[in-house]
Amino acid sequence: MTDRLYYHDSFLYNFDAEVRSVIETPRPALILDRTAFYPTSGGQIHDTGWIVSPDTKLRVTEVADAEDGRVVHYLDAPLKEAQLKNVQPGTRIRGEIDPARRRDHMQQHSAQHVLSAAFIRLFNMPTVSFHMADDYCSIDLRIDDLDTPSLTKDQIESAERLANDVVLENRSVDIRFVTRDEAAHLGLRKLPPTEHDQLRLIDIRDFDLTACGGTHVSSTGQIGSILLRKTEKVRQGYRVEFVAGQRAVSTTRRDFSTLTETAALFSAHIYDVAQQARKSLDEIRLLRKQREQSQDELAAAQAATLLAETPETNSRKLVVRTFSDRDLTFLKLLAQKLTRLSPTAVALFATDSPQPALVFAQSAGQPHDMGALLKETMAKLGGRGGGSKDLAQGGVPKSDGLADALAAAAQSLAI
Ligand SMILES: [Zn+2]
Repeated sequence: MTDRLYYHDSFLYNFDAEVRSVIETPRPALILDRTAFYPTSGGQIHDTGWIVSPDTKLRVTEVADAEDGRVVHYLDAPLKEAQLKNVQPGTRIRGEIDPARRRDHMQQHSAQHVLSAAFIRLFNMPTVSFHMADDYCSIDLRIDDLDTPSLTKDQIESAERLANDVVLENRSVDIRFVTRDEAAHLGLRKLPPTEHDQLRLIDIRDFDLTACGGTHVSSTGQIGSILLRKTEKVRQGYRVEFVAGQRAVSTTRRDFSTLTETAALFSAHIYDVAQQARKSLDEIRLLRKQREQSQDELAAAQAATLLAETPETNSRKLVVRTFSDRDLTFLKLLAQKLTRLSPTAVALFATDSPQPALVFAQSAGQPHDMGALLKETMAKLGGRGGGSKDLAQGGVPKSDGLADALAAAAQSLAI
């Protein structure tokens, strides 16, 4: 078993220890007799730092609990021969923990205790799990009243308010060790299911008492602030994301930058962004509708013009045209208008931009097969498409050869 120094002092960033064993494969790691490095457990992620011997400085990138109670310090790179000599079992080393990362973890984890206690006090919603990621944390709240499983905006704001009151009150946070029997009478928020005889308790004065092995601040003021973020429904209740301390500041800073950038696009104040965005979306919807209407009118007029310009030969009107700056949707609309306006029309349309495409159509009752003709033409152009006997469409990768292919299709109908 590794002696865990962080159990007694979360602010111990440097410590002396002795190497117990060196692991080379599959991942290089050291095991010490004692450590202040926190291994990933109980929702809290591990520390990082350095292990320093007189001639060697090794980077610790991950720390994990082994099943036998030892703490494994994983190193960032395999040990070179000289380094290996410097950390043989029995060597005295100095451990140095990355203090900024540890402080951040203490703030997040202590915030979790305060927040979990707040949700119990206010709404009797117990925390069933805690997750710490690199940029945010979350707790899962169990909601027992399954008939009305909800977490309202007001509840979120009340819990956030109470949690921050507790931060501002700067209550002491003490570590206590008790036996399991003693713990049973203390009214803990959460009693862990372990077999250990001794329990480590985190005591936020007159607010929360719970068993926990993590690293915490020594008074709630050190948490700084607690900001609740996204909530989402999960299987048995709700997941609440939060950030505390410097994370709360950096997250808010990022929110502000995003909002400021967005507000500048609308030339609006940041608090008016939602209203401005709604207004813009309404305008877009209206413009889209107007555009559809205009396209329809334009297609009808253009179909009539094309028919008027085209003489009837062999008792049908064959209209062959290549367009620019017309999309497939417009081409199709135009072909439909044209074949409905005249009972004897055949339309072979191409567009070379924005996306090269073809639309072939004939009036109902005409004898050709547009689907087959389009497929044949597509085969020459390397495109994809298809359709029915009266209407077919498809896109081609580039506009080269489009006019020739169209002329060949028209030619095949003339025979
Ligand atoms: Zn904890």
